[in-house]
Amino acid sequence: MPVDSVVAARNLCFKYDGAEILHGITLTITAGDYIGLVGPNGSGKTTFIRTILGLLQPTHGSVALFGRNTSAFTGWGKIGYLPQKLIGFNPEFPARVREIVSLGLLGTKRFPRRLDSSDVPALDATIALLDIQDIQNKLIGELSGGQLQRVLLARALVSRPEFLILDEPTTALDPETRDTFFNTLKDLNQNGRVTIIIVTHDIADIGKYASKLLYLDKKIIFYGSFEDFCSSPDMASYFGEFAQHLICHRHT
Ligand code: ADP
Repeated sequence: MPVDSVVAARNLCFKYDGAEILHGITLTITAGDYIGLVGPNGSGKTTFIRTILGLLQPTHGSVALFGRNTSAFTGWGKIGYLPQKLIGFNPEFPARVREIVSLGLLGTKRFPRRLDSSDVPALDATIALLDIQDIQNKLIGELSGGQLQRVLLARALVSRPEFLILDEPTTALDPETRDTFFNTLKDLNQNGRVTIIIVTHDIADIGKYASKLLYLDKKIIFYGSFEDFCSSPDMASYFGEFAQHLICHRHT
Protein backbone atom coordinates (compact mmCIF):
# COMPACT_ATOMS: atom_id res chain seq x y z
CA MET A 1 0.00 0.00 0.00
CA PRO A 2 1.46 3.42 -0.90
CA VAL A 3 2.53 5.49 2.13
CA ASP A 4 0.40 8.43 1.06
CA SER A 5 -2.79 6.38 0.81
CA VAL A 6 -5.54 8.18 2.74
CA VAL A 7 -8.36 5.74 1.95
CA ALA A 8 -7.95 2.24 0.58
CA ALA A 9 -11.19 0.36 -0.09
CA ARG A 10 -10.87 -3.24 -1.21
CA ASN A 11 -13.91 -5.02 -2.61
CA LEU A 12 -16.11 -3.05 -0.23
CA CYS A 13 -19.72 -4.24 -0.15
CA PHE A 14 -22.55 -3.04 2.07
CA LYS A 15 -26.11 -4.30 2.53
CA TYR A 16 -29.07 -2.83 4.41
CA ASP A 17 -31.54 -5.59 5.37
CA GLY A 18 -30.24 -7.83 2.61
CA ALA A 19 -30.45 -5.14 -0.09
CA GLU A 20 -27.08 -4.45 -1.66
CA ILE A 21 -26.23 -0.72 -1.48
CA LEU A 22 -22.50 -0.84 -2.28
CA HIS A 23 -20.93 -3.48 -4.48
CA GLY A 24 -17.26 -4.35 -4.97
CA ILE A 25 -15.80 -0.88 -4.39
CA THR A 26 -12.04 -0.94 -4.80
CA LEU A 27 -10.20 2.38 -4.87
CA THR A 28 -7.40 4.38 -3.34
CA ILE A 29 -7.61 8.03 -2.34
CA THR A 30 -4.15 9.54 -2.24
CA ALA A 31 -2.90 12.49 -0.16
CA GLY A 32 -3.61 15.72 -2.03
CA ASP A 33 -6.60 14.38 -3.99
CA TYR A 34 -9.71 16.55 -4.28
CA ILE A 35 -12.52 14.22 -5.23
CA GLY A 36 -16.02 15.13 -6.34
CA LEU A 37 -18.34 12.23 -5.40
CA VAL A 38 -21.37 12.21 -7.65
CA GLY A 39 -24.25 9.83 -8.40
CA PRO A 40 -28.03 9.60 -8.50
CA ASN A 41 -30.14 9.82 -5.33
CA GLY A 42 -29.93 6.60 -3.38
CA SER A 43 -26.76 5.45 -5.18
CA GLY A 44 -24.87 4.86 -1.91
CA LYS A 45 -22.78 8.04 -1.63
CA THR A 46 -23.59 8.72 2.04
CA THR A 47 -23.31 5.01 2.83
CA PHE A 48 -19.83 4.99 1.28
CA ILE A 49 -18.80 8.02 3.36
CA ARG A 50 -20.15 6.37 6.50
CA THR A 51 -18.17 3.19 5.88
CA ILE A 52 -15.00 5.24 5.33
CA LEU A 53 -15.64 6.88 8.70
CA GLY A 54 -16.13 3.53 10.41
CA LEU A 55 -19.75 4.45 11.27
CA LEU A 56 -20.94 1.44 9.25
CA GLN A 57 -19.11 -1.87 8.98
CA PRO A 58 -18.76 -3.36 5.47
CA THR A 59 -20.67 -6.59 4.94
CA HIS A 60 -17.77 -7.68 2.77
CA GLY A 61 -14.30 -6.34 1.97
CA SER A 62 -12.38 -3.69 3.88
CA VAL A 63 -11.58 0.01 4.24
CA ALA A 64 -8.32 1.39 5.57
CA LEU A 65 -7.66 4.99 6.63
CA PHE A 66 -4.07 6.22 6.50
CA GLY A 67 -3.00 2.57 6.12
CA ARG A 68 -4.99 1.16 9.07
CA ASN A 69 -8.25 -0.75 9.00
CA THR A 70 -11.05 1.58 10.17
CA SER A 71 -11.81 -0.74 13.15
CA ALA A 72 -8.22 -0.24 14.40
CA PHE A 73 -7.86 3.41 13.33
CA THR A 74 -7.26 5.91 16.11
CA GLY A 75 -6.24 9.10 14.29
CA TRP A 76 -9.71 10.66 14.10
CA GLY A 77 -8.20 14.08 14.81
CA LYS A 78 -6.77 13.93 11.26
CA ILE A 79 -10.27 13.89 9.81
CA GLY A 80 -12.76 16.73 9.47
CA TYR A 81 -16.32 15.72 8.68
CA LEU A 82 -19.23 17.89 7.62
CA PRO A 83 -22.25 15.56 7.57
CA GLN A 84 -25.28 16.04 5.36
CA LYS A 85 -27.69 16.01 8.27
CA LEU A 86 -26.46 17.52 11.46
CA ILE A 87 -27.86 15.07 13.97
CA GLY A 88 -28.65 16.83 17.22
CA PHE A 89 -27.86 20.22 15.72
CA ASN A 90 -30.50 22.75 16.69
CA PRO A 91 -30.11 26.14 14.98
CA GLU A 92 -32.28 27.70 17.72
CA PHE A 93 -29.78 26.67 20.40
CA PRO A 94 -28.40 29.86 21.96
CA ALA A 95 -24.77 29.26 20.99
CA ARG A 96 -22.48 31.81 19.40
CA VAL A 97 -20.44 31.27 16.26
CA ARG A 98 -17.09 31.18 18.09
CA GLU A 99 -18.34 28.52 20.51
CA ILE A 100 -19.62 26.34 17.68
CA VAL A 101 -16.28 26.54 15.86
CA SER A 102 -14.39 25.72 19.05
CA LEU A 103 -16.37 22.48 19.44
CA GLY A 104 -14.28 21.13 16.55
CA LEU A 105 -11.26 21.11 18.87
CA LEU A 106 -12.84 18.98 21.59
CA GLY A 107 -12.46 15.75 19.60
CA THR A 108 -8.67 16.17 19.75
CA LYS A 109 -8.61 16.42 23.56
CA ARG A 110 -8.34 13.78 26.20
CA PHE A 111 -10.73 13.66 29.14
CA PRO A 112 -11.58 16.11 30.73
CA ARG A 113 -12.33 17.73 27.39
CA ARG A 114 -11.79 21.43 27.88
CA LEU A 115 -10.47 24.28 25.81
CA ASP A 116 -7.72 26.50 27.16
CA SER A 117 -5.72 29.54 26.09
CA SER A 118 -3.43 27.43 23.89
CA ASP A 119 -6.45 26.82 21.61
CA VAL A 120 -7.00 30.52 20.88
CA PRO A 121 -4.49 30.84 17.97
CA ALA A 122 -6.01 27.88 16.06
CA LEU A 123 -9.49 29.25 16.68
CA ASP A 124 -8.58 32.76 15.53
CA ALA A 125 -6.73 31.48 12.46
CA THR A 126 -9.67 29.32 11.32
CA ILE A 127 -12.17 32.12 11.90
CA ALA A 128 -9.97 34.42 9.79
CA LEU A 129 -9.49 31.76 7.09
CA LEU A 130 -13.22 31.46 6.58
CA ASP A 131 -13.74 35.18 6.85
CA ILE A 132 -16.26 34.95 9.67
CA GLN A 133 -14.60 37.40 12.10
CA ASP A 134 -17.48 39.85 11.78
CA ILE A 135 -20.06 37.31 12.84
CA GLN A 136 -18.08 35.40 15.47
CA ASN A 137 -20.19 36.73 18.34
CA LYS A 138 -23.53 36.26 16.64
CA LEU A 139 -26.02 33.61 17.71
CA ILE A 140 -26.15 30.77 15.17
CA GLY A 141 -29.92 31.29 14.82
CA GLU A 142 -29.21 34.73 13.29
CA LEU A 143 -27.07 33.45 10.41
CA SER A 144 -27.93 33.05 6.75
CA GLY A 145 -27.59 29.58 5.15
CA GLY A 146 -24.25 30.53 3.58
CA GLN A 147 -22.86 31.92 6.84
CA LEU A 148 -23.95 28.84 8.79
CA GLN A 149 -22.26 26.58 6.25
CA ARG A 150 -18.99 28.51 6.60
CA VAL A 151 -19.22 28.24 10.39
CA LEU A 152 -19.74 24.48 10.16
CA LEU A 153 -16.84 24.20 7.74
CA ALA A 154 -14.73 26.17 10.24
CA ARG A 155 -15.74 23.69 12.96
CA ALA A 156 -14.62 20.80 10.71
CA LEU A 157 -11.32 22.58 9.93
CA VAL A 158 -10.25 24.00 13.28
CA SER A 159 -8.39 20.84 14.30
CA ARG A 160 -6.32 21.16 11.07
CA PRO A 161 -7.47 17.89 9.55
CA GLU A 162 -5.44 16.25 6.80
CA PHE A 163 -8.56 14.75 5.30
CA LEU A 164 -11.83 16.61 4.90
CA ILE A 165 -15.08 14.81 4.13
CA LEU A 166 -18.08 16.89 3.12
CA ASP A 167 -21.52 15.47 2.40
CA GLU A 168 -23.55 17.83 0.19
CA PRO A 169 -22.40 21.02 1.92
CA THR A 170 -23.67 23.39 -0.77
CA THR A 171 -27.34 22.41 -1.09
CA ALA A 172 -28.57 25.42 0.88
CA LEU A 173 -26.28 27.93 -0.81
CA ASP A 174 -27.02 30.42 -3.56
CA PRO A 175 -24.73 30.16 -6.64
CA GLU A 176 -22.42 33.01 -5.59
CA THR A 177 -21.90 31.73 -2.04
CA ARG A 178 -21.42 28.26 -3.48
CA ASP A 179 -18.60 29.49 -5.72
CA THR A 180 -16.88 31.15 -2.74
CA PHE A 181 -17.29 27.94 -0.74
CA PHE A 182 -15.80 25.81 -3.54
CA ASN A 183 -12.91 28.27 -3.91
CA THR A 184 -12.16 28.07 -0.18
CA LEU A 185 -11.95 24.29 -0.50
CA LYS A 186 -9.75 24.52 -3.57
CA ASP A 187 -7.38 26.81 -1.71
CA LEU A 188 -7.24 24.42 1.27
CA ASN A 189 -6.48 21.58 -1.12
CA GLN A 190 -3.83 23.35 -3.17
CA ASN A 191 -2.13 25.50 -0.56
CA GLY A 192 -2.91 23.57 2.63
CA ARG A 193 -2.54 20.12 1.01
CA VAL A 194 -5.78 18.95 2.58
CA THR A 195 -7.20 15.82 0.94
CA ILE A 196 -10.88 16.39 0.19
CA ILE A 197 -13.84 14.27 -0.75
CA ILE A 198 -17.06 16.15 -1.38
CA VAL A 199 -20.46 14.64 -2.13
CA THR A 200 -22.21 17.03 -4.46
CA HIS A 201 -25.15 17.50 -6.78
CA ASP A 202 -23.34 20.38 -8.47
CA ILE A 203 -22.39 18.10 -11.30
CA ALA A 204 -21.90 20.89 -13.82
CA ASP A 205 -19.60 22.84 -11.46
CA ILE A 206 -17.48 20.37 -9.55
CA GLY A 207 -15.10 19.84 -12.51
CA LYS A 208 -13.95 23.45 -12.14
CA TYR A 209 -12.61 22.74 -8.66
CA ALA A 210 -11.97 19.06 -7.99
CA SER A 211 -9.10 17.03 -9.44
CA LYS A 212 -10.89 13.68 -9.64
CA LEU A 213 -14.38 12.44 -10.24
CA LEU A 214 -15.89 9.45 -8.45
CA TYR A 215 -19.21 8.51 -10.02
CA LEU A 216 -21.01 5.93 -7.93
CA ASP A 217 -24.14 3.97 -8.64
CA LYS A 218 -23.87 1.19 -6.06
CA LYS A 219 -20.63 0.29 -7.83
CA ILE A 220 -17.94 2.50 -9.32
CA ILE A 221 -19.06 3.79 -12.70
CA PHE A 222 -16.00 6.02 -13.02
CA TYR A 223 -13.05 6.99 -10.86
CA GLY A 224 -10.26 9.12 -12.27
CA SER A 225 -9.36 12.54 -13.60
CA PHE A 226 -11.88 14.76 -15.35
CA GLU A 227 -9.62 14.63 -18.43
CA ASP A 228 -9.86 10.84 -18.55
CA PHE A 229 -13.61 11.03 -17.98
CA CYS A 230 -13.88 13.47 -20.87
CA SER A 231 -12.04 11.25 -23.34
CA SER A 232 -13.55 7.92 -22.26
CA PRO A 233 -15.64 6.16 -24.93
CA ASP A 234 -17.21 4.05 -22.15
CA MET A 235 -18.46 7.19 -20.42
CA ALA A 236 -19.73 8.60 -23.72
CA SER A 237 -21.87 5.52 -24.17
CA TYR A 238 -22.93 5.41 -20.49
CA PHE A 239 -23.94 9.07 -20.18
CA GLY A 240 -24.29 10.24 -23.77
CA GLU A 241 -21.82 12.82 -25.05
CA PHE A 242 -23.83 15.83 -23.91
CA ALA A 243 -23.94 14.79 -20.26
CA GLN A 244 -20.35 13.52 -20.41
CA HIS A 245 -19.02 16.92 -21.41
CA LEU A 246 -21.36 18.78 -19.07
CA ILE A 247 -19.74 16.82 -16.23
CA CYS A 248 -16.12 16.95 -17.40
CA HIS A 249 -16.11 20.74 -17.61
CA ARG A 250 -12.96 20.72 -19.69
CA HIS A 251 -14.43 22.70 -22.59
CA THR A 252 -15.32 26.33 -22.95
P1 ADP B 1 -27.13 8.69 -1.54
O1 ADP B 1 -26.28 9.35 -0.51
O2 ADP B 1 -26.39 8.37 -2.81
O3 ADP B 1 -28.42 9.42 -1.85
P2 ADP B 1 -27.55 6.68 0.52
O4 ADP B 1 -26.21 6.09 0.80
O5 ADP B 1 -28.09 7.68 1.48
O6 ADP B 1 -27.57 7.25 -0.99
O7 ADP B 1 -28.63 5.52 0.43
C1 ADP B 1 -28.44 4.39 -0.43
C2 ADP B 1 -29.61 3.46 -0.26
O8 ADP B 1 -29.63 2.92 1.04
C3 ADP B 1 -30.97 4.13 -0.49
O9 ADP B 1 -31.78 3.25 -1.24
C4 ADP B 1 -31.52 4.30 0.90
O10 ADP B 1 -32.92 4.23 0.90
C5 ADP B 1 -30.90 3.11 1.64
N1 ADP B 1 -30.70 3.40 3.06
C6 ADP B 1 -30.02 4.46 3.57
N2 ADP B 1 -30.02 4.41 4.93
C7 ADP B 1 -30.71 3.30 5.27
C8 ADP B 1 -31.06 2.68 6.53
N3 ADP B 1 -30.67 3.22 7.69
N4 ADP B 1 -31.79 1.53 6.49
C9 ADP B 1 -32.16 0.97 5.31
N5 ADP B 1 -31.87 1.51 4.10
C10 ADP B 1 -31.16 2.65 4.07
